[in-house]
Amino acid sequence: MIESLNARAWQFLCARYSDASHWFDEAVETIERPAFEHLAAIKAVKPFVTDNRFVLCPCCGLQAAELYRACGVLELNCPDCGPVRIFEGQLRAWTIDADWFIRKLRSALDTSTRQATLVIASGIWLIGQHERRSVILARSLDEVLHYPAVLERPRGNQMPWVITPKPKRDTGADPLAGRAEWLPLEERFTLYGGNISFLEQGTAPELSKPDPSTAVHGPLSEDFRWVQLTELQSDPIALTLAQAAVFRSLWHFAGQPQEAHTIMSRAGCSSDKPIDVFKVKPKFQGEPKYELPLQAYKALVQTDRRAGTYVMPCASLTTA
Ligand SMILES: [Zn+2]
Repeated sequence: MIESLNARAWQFLCARYSDASHWFDEAVETIERPAFEHLAAIKAVKPFVTDNRFVLCPCCGLQAAELYRACGVLELNCPDCGPVRIFEGQLRAWTIDADWFIRKLRSALDTSTRQATLVIASGIWLIGQHERRSVILARSLDEVLHYPAVLERPRGNQMPWVITPKPKRDTGADPLAGRAEWLPLEERFTLYGGNISFLEQGTAPELSKPDPSTAVHGPLSEDFRWVQLTELQSDPIALTLAQAAVFRSLWHFAGQPQEAHTIMSRAGCSSDKPIDVFKVKPKFQGEPKYELPLQAYKALVQTDRRAGTYVMPCASLTTA
């Protein structure tokens, strides 16, 4: 039930994202309401301030006219349609919180906080680097095709990633003609627990696949990006790519104590100690998103300070 609400909310968000500016409350279909309300609750959408002095006539959709109140009722006088009643819902508008959207995508891709987001053209952003690739977000594939210069890269750099909603028309497998890899929002990302998560290649969206956060390796998910510890939180806890790599490495050693450098080199991390990737920066202290992975680490991993070794007992082959 929760999953399908997440899936529907994500669809709603992706579809509205390409429409750019805003939509009116009244235009949200009854069937879309729960998804829309979920997005409002997680602050993915926010009120949009419209100029309510002149309003587009809802009858013809062509003429704009001045809004006035007559006998407590809002009306406008359309040159074509005459007096038309306006309901409050027709004036209350919403928009996707672009800052929220970019922040959550950056966090899904684990981009470095040292890199700022850059606007590279109208509706096109460079949101960071993922595994030494530039990650470009655009409101539509067409915007990118109109400004192919945004795909230019210094010789030797990896092919950039381009994230956009799927256009309504058929695009073929490689719409950017080998200049960049296209990641359709609907297929390569999903919404879970108020956050956006990235689906690795070959992972289908949650509609057709089991929940990616299901505990498979002990309390950890198949891809180690989630940990289920009900004593900390009823929902699975999302992990960063680096945290997942550390858990994956600890799982590999099947409950055998290992030195930090062995675990970290297997995880492909440059940090010295496993806990380094779980540490909470002062500005994020107290935020569950950052605190919970650290608590999960403390619950699952034991350190022998004298021997300088680390072990994750739940990975032991003898414990079920
Ligand atoms: Zn009209």
